[in-house]
Amino acid sequence: MIELTLSIIKPDGVKKGLSGKIISIFEENGFEIKAIKKLRLTKKEAESFYFIHKERPFFKSLVEFMTEGPVIAMIIAGEDAIQKNRNIMGATNPENAAEGTIRKMFAESIERNIVHGSDSPESAKFEISFFFNFFEII
Ligand code: ADP
Ligand code: MG
Repeated sequence: MIELTLSIIKPDGVKKGLSGKIISIFEENGFEIKAIKKLRLTKKEAESFYFIHKERPFFKSLVEFMTEGPVIAMIIAGEDAIQKNRNIMGATNPENAAEGTIRKMFAESIERNIVHGSDSPESAKFEISFFFNFFEII
């Protein structure tokens, strides 16, 4: 089934100049870029994007990290895109990520891990609508 999912190149990925490489990885894996934008999240926006983690000990630090610089948000589409993107990203902690995954190759820590990806159809729906409206999805 063709699915849409949300990917974010986090501030560390943008700062390290990895945006092009990461987009290439998605295209090489058969994903289509349906929408893309560069923006800097405000504190409020980052807090609401990650509301699910608001009780976690790392929440404040995560919000600081996600607002420290611009991000690139993308809708990517393809067969089984939600799970496939998670596989391409690798585990949250780069130490546990499989060889060849984005986080294994580029992430420096469990927090500064280069990319975000929706983890379920419900989160994909919420996260896509967080960044994009209907007319921006081509
Ligand atoms: P994922 O991004 O793999 O879906 P989570 O949803 O569990 O991971 O966490 C969201 C983000 O919060 C992670 O990508 C990472 O940036 C940060 N994070 C998760 N766990 C920790 C932790 N133990 N310490 C610091 N930051 C964390
Ligand atoms: Mg998550």
